[in-house]
Amino acid sequence: MAEKKAALNEDLENVITLKALVDMGNNKVIFVESDGDFIDVIFSFLTMPMGRIVRLACKSSVPVEIGCMRNLYQSTVKFNKNKFRSMECILMLLLPCNAADCQCKNLKLKIDNDPTQYLLCANDCFLSYYTRIRCPSCGCLFSRGTDLPVDDTQVGGVFVKGQPRLIITDDLQVISPALNLLMHSFASKTPLTEILLKNEQIPSLGDVHSSQGISIHSQMHGDTIDEEEKNISLKLVVSKSKKIVCYAEAQEDFVNLLFSFLTLPLGFILEKMQNVSWKGCLGQLYKSVEDFDEQYLKSNFHKELLVNPMLAPGFRYEKTLLGIEETSFYYVGRKLTTDKSCIPDNTPAESVKLNVVDPKSHEDRDESAQGFLKGPATFTVTDNLVVRPLSLILEMSVLQELKVPFTDIEDHIVHVGKREALLLLVASFVGDSALTNTFIRGLREPKQEQ
Ligand SMILES: [Zn+2]
Repeated sequence: MAEKKAALNEDLENVITLKALVDMGNNKVIFVESDGDFIDVIFSFLTMPMGRIVRLACKSSVPVEIGCMRNLYQSTVKFNKNKFRSMECILMLLLPCNAADCQCKNLKLKIDNDPTQYLLCANDCFLSYYTRIRCPSCGCLFSRGTDLPVDDTQVGGVFVKGQPRLIITDDLQVISPALNLLMHSFASKTPLTEILLKNEQIPSLGDVHSSQGISIHSQMHGDTIDEEEKNISLKLVVSKSKKIVCYAEAQEDFVNLLFSFLTLPLGFILEKMQNVSWKGCLGQLYKSVEDFDEQYLKSNFHKELLVNPMLAPGFRYEKTLLGIEETSFYYVGRKLTTDKSCIPDNTPAESVKLNVVDPKSHEDRDESAQGFLKGPATFTVTDNLVVRPLSLILEMSVLQELKVPFTDIEDHIVHVGKREALLLLVASFVGDSALTNTFIRGLREPKQEQ
């Protein structure tokens, strides 16, 4: 047995010790024995919003591409601020709040060091993450309010009960140090070997579009295709000979959908792609938690935080096609929590629930507006989800790069409902041809096996 220490941020407190059984001949980790603290850290990956993961990936020493997510993130960075309904919309996408933050604050090892603020207005009416906002009820600025403490009384034992010793295999079965492990688990089936033994560069997730296409399974939990629900339409510019989407022209409703991917917790995305094969092993992690014996987890509420993660309050918008809900905040014993079981039996939940100001709309007088962007507006979206305000220059350069002549292109109008929205989410997570895989390969040639 070779014992390896996994440290992060050169911070001595931020260390968890692991015992790894190593096959020295093949330089391979067979399994790691770990306690609950490490497992909590791995489980917490599932609660992290995509925008935060991409942010960490950009800062990581082992850069990893997660499908088109970095393009979405960087498109948001490059957008002119006046395209957004409020300044806070940009923060919501680039540093989205984690709905399980109250729990993750108790992790022994923190890989995400951008804490969320919870500000209560001076008259106790509303909660806000952002200081620049005024309370919709009393009009005071949140910067004058109080910063609420979250329920961080139980350091350790965040999701997992007690101090079990558990075994983690190299492909993160059962479960599974930290940021590099998270990054490796997007692109490798053996992340522990790579982290503990090799210090290897992460392979890229690769271009699924060049090979057989991804087998996005259309089994989206019994959804029927409701034509009336398909309220987003966009124009695809398709190469007839290559059968690929060169770019699309879309309105703000479609780009809101794309940008909202950054706010989604990883566990939500993994739940939607249970039948999709890809290079990473995070699907194993998701399944392990799903199959995890209840007795090892603190409660069913904690399991739901991982396998059915929600958005933080204020992050959902009315017409979202993704079917994700928001959690609620309760103020109990001078602490903020999302766990209803912390509310005393004789207290109605509504009486301790804190309403959160919608950070998207506080500057926007257009009551019909949805999502993060001001409308009406038209955008150019490339196949790998680079998004710009309508740009003929970008469109020309894409055609040039793909060597597609004008005589080879045709326009297709397509409609997006719940099913297409989920296909697009999965396609943008696993590869870099999201539009082609969703609208040309994914829908016309759905794989029937499995
Ligand atoms: Zn107020």
